[in-house]
Amino acid sequence: MGLSLHAIEQGGDVGGTWYWNRYPGARCDVMSIDYSYSFSNEIMQEWTWSEVFATQPEILAYANWVADRLDLRRSYSFDTCATVIAYDDEREIWSVGTDTGTVYEVKYLVMATGPLSMPKALDTPGSERFGGLLLQAQTWPHEPVDFAGKRVGLIGTGSSGIQIAPVVAAQCGHLTVFQRTPSFTLPARNQPLDPEFIAQIKAHYPHLREMAKNTFTGGIRPVSTRPFFSIPAEERRKLMDQAWEEGALRFLGLFSDLLFDAEANECVAEYVRGKIAEIVEDPATAELLTPRGYPIFARRPCLDTNYYETFNRPNVALSDCIGDPIEEITPDGIRTRTRHIELDIIIAANGYDALTGAMLAINVTGRNGARLSEHWRNGPRSHLGLMMPGFPNLFMVAGANGPSALANFILLNEQNVDWIVRCIEHLRGRGLSAMEPTPESEDRWMAQVQALAEPSLYPRANTWYTGSNIEGKPRGIPLLSRRAPPLPGGMRSRDRGFPRLRVRELNPIAAACRFKHGACLV
Ligand code: NAP
Repeated sequence: MGLSLHAIEQGGDVGGTWYWNRYPGARCDVMSIDYSYSFSNEIMQEWTWSEVFATQPEILAYANWVADRLDLRRSYSFDTCATVIAYDDEREIWSVGTDTGTVYEVKYLVMATGPLSMPKALDTPGSERFGGLLLQAQTWPHEPVDFAGKRVGLIGTGSSGIQIAPVVAAQCGHLTVFQRTPSFTLPARNQPLDPEFIAQIKAHYPHLREMAKNTFTGGIRPVSTRPFFSIPAEERRKLMDQAWEEGALRFLGLFSDLLFDAEANECVAEYVRGKIAEIVEDPATAELLTPRGYPIFARRPCLDTNYYETFNRPNVALSDCIGDPIEEITPDGIRTRTRHIELDIIIAANGYDALTGAMLAINVTGRNGARLSEHWRNGPRSHLGLMMPGFPNLFMVAGANGPSALANFILLNEQNVDWIVRCIEHLRGRGLSAMEPTPESEDRWMAQVQALAEPSLYPRANTWYTGSNIEGKPRGIPLLSRRAPPLPGGMRSRDRGFPRLRVRELNPIAAACRFKHGACLV
């Protein structure tokens, strides 16, 4: 485009979430063949993933490899944090102040600050007095941590905590898991990718990626059009048994109405509850681990490797933070309402100030002194999750009110970036200096987001999806859609004039890898 580009990055290197989240067991629960760039066929062909679900070190190695291959590092200032961002109305320029003292002036500003990048503060009193090692999953040290013989406490049982527990339990002296809300988690059944499968994927990669862009989540996995109760009970049971055995997020593709029909949802939830009771030997522990009171998949679904089995180990205990809440961290452990548990290491896997946290940590002022914190006073608002009125030429990647948390982030990012590039080209092609959505277009978009979200079961759970994991945070909602009209592929395919691929045309491709690691289209 003939423009110069400079990126500032708080981390010491590339990788984003995979740079920071180095905790034991960290891996992505979107399949590696989906969770990777699609913009370059050379990159897709040259890189070979080793497992169905890639580990954090492998994804970080991939990010580094792409950065080297495209010589991207020279465009970055690492270890640099934006602190103040302000729009100069007269010059139509954004100034970006940083903690290094450097101020950048730019015409177009892309906020790729991440929806899950601002760790939630540990709200338990006393952490500063703890004499042992206090670790946070989201900012894990780069050096290995020695757990041998140590008494470890783990706070949090979301996706991160569920990945940490089995790995740390196998290494430490004793592990106490502090659980507040039990999560539904499904077996990942991760495995190595065999060369034949890789060869089939690579042979059809461009088509498979195009297909993925036209799905709800941005991944090639089965999607059903059949409502739960349209299928006979015996067949439903067989499908669920099969999904449990095959692992991964197969359940999400079994029935079309899981997130809209509360009764259907409850049947699937009850199936998973039954599995917990089968796996966990101590009935009292099994009951505590059993999620109740919110729909399955209304909180971000978790994938695990031997999470429930971990509670059958003699060196693992579960502490129920609802019946016996944590009161404080002491110099040598954690005090709950009824007891004191001595610990050498505490791991906080307590989540994020999601979707808006990273943007609001920066003092952002738009046209006529409009403050972002004011614009989002009652929850995040945007047009398409990409732009906001009053903030000209400021673009967000994976922004709040876009598909954000519900999509494969890599593909979504690519779709967002392509949109932004075309937008800038449009401005320059017509000699226009700036653009922003009108307040009416933002209102219309927000009404559409609301209309899509309301009939779903998502609002029935307390989750970072809506901001309810942070006390006092106004509630928002990411874009939810029963079908997939405004999701990445739809927009991209239409805008680019690609012929929309029809299922019939794709089936021969999908058949090549059918029922292998769940990477297929039905
Ligand atoms: P999370 O899902 O928000 O879980 C945080 C956990 O900490 C919850 O169990 C929460 O309990 C608990 N917690 C917070 N404060 C607490 C307190 N004071 N006392 C006791 N418990 C407390 O955060 P996360 O596990 O980091 O995951 C966030 C998101 O990152 C995921 O949903 C996913 O999108 C992404 N992620 C993905 C992967 C993957 O791909 N495999 C792995 C990790 C993360 P309450 O629920 O009761 O508040």
